[in-house]
Amino acid sequence: MAETIFGRIIRGEIPCHKVWEDDHVLAFLDIGPLSRGHTLVIPKEPAERLDQLSEESAAAVGRVLPRIARAVIAATGAPAYNVLQNNGPEAHQAVMHVHFHIIPKYPDGSGLGISWPAGRLADDEGRELAARIRERLAGDRG
Ligand code: AMP
Repeated sequence: MAETIFGRIIRGEIPCHKVWEDDHVLAFLDIGPLSRGHTLVIPKEPAERLDQLSEESAAAVGRVLPRIARAVIAATGAPAYNVLQNNGPEAHQAVMHVHFHIIPKYPDGSGLGISWPAGRLADDEGRELAARIRERLAGDRG
């Protein structure tokens, strides 16, 4: 995997406003926040995308995400928040190291703006797609 700015933050070569660190996970304030308290939670494992992350690192991130989210909303007073996780440049991923955004949403509207052009899942398409995904899952040992 190519070197990223987050790799350099993990190694302490670049400073960050750290809020959490354990053996597998680091969390720090986003330098370009969408709203006050915007926090990034990253595995120390150098994986580019969520689908490339080990189960061990994924579990370590999942274990602390709720705790960090609780602290962010308690510290900021934000009434709501989004957790965002981008994979691939087409999906707005700019830093090629897995990261979860915790983005407080405030009554003034600051936070994540979402476009959600919902369609409607047809029954036959749903059956076919779900079967394909189940098939992939059955062949994936993690
Ligand atoms: P994404 O579009 O999901 O890849 O988001 C990458 C995020 O990393 C952006 O929100 C950036 O503001 C943030 N970011 C980039 N460099 C740094 C840095 N040195 N410290 C903290 N956050 C950063």
